[in-house]
Amino acid sequence: MKKILLLATGGTIACRPNEQGGLAPAITPRELLDFVPELAEICQIETLQLYNLDSTNVGPEHWVGMTQAVRENYEKYDGFVITHGTDTMAYTASALSYMIQNTSKPIVLTGSQKSIYNRDTDARNNLLRAFSYAGADGAWGVQIVFDNKVILGTRARKVRSKSFDAFSSIDYPETAVFRDSRLIFFMPKPTDLPPVQFYTKLDPAVFVLRLVPGIRAEIFQFLKPMFRAIVIEGFGVGGLPDSHDSAMLKAVTDWTASGRIAVFSTQVQHEGSDLGIYEVGRLAKELPGVLEAHDMTPEASVTKLMWVLGQTDDRALAQKMFTTPIQHDLL
Ligand code: ASP
Repeated sequence: MKKILLLATGGTIACRPNEQGGLAPAITPRELLDFVPELAEICQIETLQLYNLDSTNVGPEHWVGMTQAVRENYEKYDGFVITHGTDTMAYTASALSYMIQNTSKPIVLTGSQKSIYNRDTDARNNLLRAFSYAGADGAWGVQIVFDNKVILGTRARKVRSKSFDAFSSIDYPETAVFRDSRLIFFMPKPTDLPPVQFYTKLDPAVFVLRLVPGIRAEIFQFLKPMFRAIVIEGFGVGGLPDSHDSAMLKAVTDWTASGRIAVFSTQVQHEGSDLGIYEVGRLAKELPGVLEAHDMTPEASVTKLMWVLGQTDDRALAQKMFTTPIQHDLL
């Protein structure tokens, strides 16, 4: 029987209603497992409570804590399940995909839209599926298991705020799905994985700027002292508004001339950016220090930049690292 470590971090799945009627994470991982007694037939589970947080409060320091916990226990277990709030689960899944690379052992994130105390909860099913995947032969990588889907950490997005079908795999096939209790793999475990690699340095100095019509270029001056990289979420395939004397183009030119990185991405959920298509994009694409997110999710773009900036101060190397596909984040 496979040995799996449950790392609990909080989220709705660990919430118990309090006297004021609000939900706050309070359940221990052992209590959580008691709700799903059939897990005892699937794998042997040990538990570690790392945090008990609403995932709104989970950030880079917690990703480092999760990575360290997996690293310290990597040899002792066949896989890991991390229970986590759904709100920032896709960020954590992306971050862990960069911080724990080439893992042949599964590292599975799951949670629920409804507390395990709710009569109609999705928590029991998600826990059962997460451990079923983690304990399966052929499971691998950093994945989110939710509502019977297994989704690569770099491709996952929260797309619904209330329904059980909360996560999608963006522009990439799901790793596997559950049909009733059968697990059907679409992406088999890679056979040629190099040894697992752990990274615990991140630099969170990354800002995301969502363009709106009429946006003012002065914003870049305010951001410069605090950030080393900016993700510019443009419209459609991407570009910069060039009204007002090309102020935006000048601001990005100034940003990159100072050694900072600018990544162009899109507000559109599917199919990614392509700066080369329109004149408003081609001008920006020519600037040194300008990169494109292409089909990377916003969560992957941001956490990959944090990981890259944590590894190097050399912009050329940072650019190369950002544009090299990792864990299927980029086609
Ligand atoms: N606010 C909760 C969290 O992300 C929502 C959830 O878990 O579904 O921790």
